[in-house]
Amino acid sequence: MSYKRSVTSAILLPLIFLMFVSCAPASRQVEGKIGVVVTVMPQVEFVNSVGGDRVSVSAMVPPGANPHTYEVTPAQMAGVSSAKMYAKVGSPIEFELTWLDKLIAQNPDMLVVDCSKGIDLIQSTDPDEPGIDPHIWTSVRNVRVMVKNICDGLTRLDPADTSYYEGNRDSYLQKLDALDADIKASLEGIANRTFIVYHPAWGYFAHDYGLTQLAIEQEGKEPKAAYMARLIDEAKQKNIKVIFVSPQYDTRSADAIAAEIGGRVVSIDAEGAKDYLDNMRKVAQAFKEALR
Ligand SMILES: [Zn+2]
Repeated sequence: MSYKRSVTSAILLPLIFLMFVSCAPASRQVEGKIGVVVTVMPQVEFVNSVGGDRVSVSAMVPPGANPHTYEVTPAQMAGVSSAKMYAKVGSPIEFELTWLDKLIAQNPDMLVVDCSKGIDLIQSTDPDEPGIDPHIWTSVRNVRVMVKNICDGLTRLDPADTSYYEGNRDSYLQKLDALDADIKASLEGIANRTFIVYHPAWGYFAHDYGLTQLAIEQEGKEPKAAYMARLIDEAKQKNIKVIFVSPQYDTRSADAIAAEIGGRVVSIDAEGAKDYLDNMRKVAQAFKEALR
């Protein structure tokens, strides 16, 4: 009897201790969950959708922050050291070019998954800054691939739960397919398919649905007056009435163009939105209302 009790407490006491320890803040090892770090907010939903209750996800670039210039905080750096997986965007996005090697040095054992593996990268639409457009997740079709790559990473880390992850992946892929079909249908038959946006984050979205993106921002900076004048002429010619902006960027030049063309400024968030599917439905609605 006393033997049994002592065995019980030998098991229970450390468990109770562990339960208290796991409540400690800033730990990525929440109650035995797989700690996953991602770069941008939209990826949080991708990992949560596949990983469900097995994962604890955090994004390095918080909502409202700019993934082209964001700097990691010391607390974030420490948090990465207990992660099991880093799901990088994998397109040449500045945050990863600047920080990923340092983050991996902090935790060389974590599995680094490249979400862009298998995705055709396209050129940026900024004629003065040619290069790869890093915003691959604005294409719902690209997100299908990103989600598969994330699923492969989780099954490598936790093969025992493969069927759980694959089931979750497949149901999220169905939601993505439905979203893609709805956006395609809602933008069909629109004659004027050119839009103006401050920060050119929508190149992959435009590519999927046959739209043309014109950026106000040039080389990551406010445009010169001559370029502004050209853009205003083009907007007038094409009867563009909406200038898109995003929460991460100053909107003064967008406001100025909108005033010149008698249009309005509409905010859509490519980089900081947490709920991907909901956000993309809002974005699609905004495009439908803007393109007439
Ligand atoms: Zn961007």
